Amino acid sequence: VPLLAHVLDDIEPVELEFQFGNGSIALDLVATVGERWARSFERLRSPEDLRRWLREEQLIGRATITAADLASYRELRSAIFDLVQARRAHRLPPRGSLRIVNGAAKAAQSIPRLTSRWHTASNAADPVGAAAATVAADAIALLSEIDPSRIRECAADDCSRLFVDRSRPGRRRWCESTGCGNRAKTAAYRRRRSRNR
Ligand SMILES: [Zn+2]
Repeated sequence: VPLLAHVLDDIEPVELEFQFGNGSIALDLVATVGERWARSFERLRSPEDLRRWLREEQLIGRATITAADLASYRELRSAIFDLVQARRAHRLPPRGSLRIVNGAAKAAQSIPRLTSRWHTASNAADPVGAAAATVAADAIALLSEIDPSRIRECAADDCSRLFVDRSRPGRRRWCESTGCGNRAKTAAYRRRRSRNR
């Protein structure tokens, strides 16, 4: 199933904020589509948005991002989502998506170099392609090495972020941020209280 995202006009800036911390760079990229189950809106609206995402994910230093780069990251994102959903449903990997992820992984990943100013420098000739290779390699590790039952969708109705549960008991139901777990617990507490009255 391709992951479609719409560039919406009437959207709050806070909704466009990137959602990191999903336990996988590949799932962080999937999270650049907001409300997959409802409005399905695009957070990578321009090459500049992609540049910001790559920087905040610490995948690139300085780089110029083109419209073609944006298109290829969106395609990679859709393929990763497709494969994740197939993995979670115990299906075989869809071929087209497999080809896209494996293709992106072929680019040379960058070798980090520490500068005398404590910065990371990349030696990659194509830093944007190298970053895509890192994302693709992360997706490959996620899909081959992680127990698929540990790849979860946040239990909050208004979230549905995909994350990796790396906790030892493996019973996490909610994603890391946005207080999804707290919201659910508060609602349950209120329900219990009103019943007891
Ligand atoms: Zn959540």
